[in-house]
Amino acid sequence: MNHTVLTGDRPTGPLHLGHYFGTLANRVRLQDIHQMFVLVADYQVIIDRDLPGRIQANIDDLLLDYLAVGIDPGKVTIFQHSAIPELNQLLLPFLSLVSVAELQRNPTVKDEIAHSSQSAVSGLMFTYPVHQAADILFCKGTLVPVGKDQLPHVEVTRLVARRFNERYGPVFPVPEAMMGDAPLLHGLDGGKMSKSRGNAITLKASEDETAALIRGARTDADRHITYDPESRPEVANLLTLAGLCLGRAPEEIAEEIGYGGAARLKGMLTEAVNEFLRPIRKRRSEVDLAEARQVLREGNARARERAVRTLEEVRQAMGF
Ligand code: ATP
Ligand code: MG
Repeated sequence: MNHTVLTGDRPTGPLHLGHYFGTLANRVRLQDIHQMFVLVADYQVIIDRDLPGRIQANIDDLLLDYLAVGIDPGKVTIFQHSAIPELNQLLLPFLSLVSVAELQRNPTVKDEIAHSSQSAVSGLMFTYPVHQAADILFCKGTLVPVGKDQLPHVEVTRLVARRFNERYGPVFPVPEAMMGDAPLLHGLDGGKMSKSRGNAITLKASEDETAALIRGARTDADRHITYDPESRPEVANLLTLAGLCLGRAPEEIAEEIGYGGAARLKGMLTEAVNEFLRPIRKRRSEVDLAEARQVLREGNARARERAVRTLEEVRQAMGF
C-alpha cells in the first residue's frame, strides 16, 4: 500500500535516543517507500514553554539532527507550523468535532501537566492534540511513526477524521500510528526520556558528555546485573539502551556482565552508545546550516501548497 507519512517533533531541544529508536529509525526506513512529511512543530513549543529566544537555535538543532540521522530532503518534505497558517484554519472546524470531556481525559496531556514546570496550564495544552489532527490530515496522512506517548493523540486524529467525514462527506483518510523498536524509552532517571526532563542522551552530545551522563544514571546496589524490568527498572533500562545500540538482547548483555556491577554496565553502555552515535555525530558536524535552512524553506513552500488545497476542499465540503 502507498502511504502518506506524517510525523514531527517540537523544537524544544536537541533530539535524543528516545526519538531515534521511537520514531527516527522508522522515518529513515519509510522515506524510501512512501511520500513523507516531517514537521518542525514550532507552535507546539508554546504549549508549556515561554517562546524562548532559543527558538531559531532549536529549529537549527532539529534540522541538523534530521539530516544527521539520514532523513533525505530529496525524498522528504520538512516544514514548520508557523509557515502554514492553513493549519490553524483547519483547527477551528476540527475543534468543533471533539468534546471538552474528550480533551480532558487524554492521558498524555495529563502526564505532561503533571511534569510541567509552569504553574498555570494553558488552553493549548488541551487543544494541541486537535492541532495535531490538522498536521496529519492536511496532507491526508495515513501513517504516523511515533512513540507511545503519541498514541492518544493519533486517536484524536482518527476521531476527527471519522467525524468530519460523517458530518460533511468523505474528505479524510483515517490514519494509523506506527511504533518503533522502543515505543517508550526511559531516561537516565527512569522516567520517559524527554528533552524537557534533563534525563536524555542527545544525539549531538560529545563522547565525554555521554560518559558523564551515563555515570550519573540511577542504578541499585546489587553487583549481580540481571535484566528484570519489574523489580530493577533502572538497571533494566540501561541494559535496554545498550541492547538497542548493539542490536542485542538485554538479557544476553546482563549475563555477560554478570557480577561486574553498575560500573561495568555503565562502561559498556557508554561504549555502545558512543560507537552507535559516532557516524551520526560525524555527519551532523558536516551538515551545512545554510543548506539545512534552505531545505526548510523549500519544504515550507511545498507543504503550504498542499495545505491550501486541503483547506479549500474542507471549506467546500462544509458549504462555505
Ligand atoms: P518535550 O519534552 O519537549 O515534549 P520530547 O522528548 O517529548 O520533548 P517530542 O518532540 O515531544 O519530544 O516528541 C517527538 C517524537 O518523539 C514523538 O513521536 C514522540 O512519541 C517520540 N518520543 C519522544 N520521547 C520518546 C521516548 N522516550 N521514547 C520513544 N519515543 C519518544
Ligand atoms: Mg513531548
